[in-house]
Amino acid sequence: MDDEIDRWKWVCPRGHRSWEATNHHFWCAECARTYAGDDYDPDFEALHNLATDETVHRDDLRLLTRVGPYDTLREGSA
Ligand SMILES: [Zn+2]
Repeated sequence: MDDEIDRWKWVCPRGHRSWEATNHHFWCAECARTYAGDDYDPDFEALHNLATDETVHRDDLRLLTRVGPYDTLREGSA
């Protein structure tokens, strides 16, 4: 297991790095902007790993990272 998250290699399902972690899912600013008005939902629960070319669900990411920085990354106050 990696102690640190290589954030650069994780992208949203559409390949953007502008995602943010929220309490219950991920959210992609680029998707929200690009697909505004479309049916596509910028909320998602899995990130795509560019290094391994696999998609990992949020629950599995938590296991991988253990320290759980995704939960506190951008939330400000808990
Ligand atoms: Zn995106």
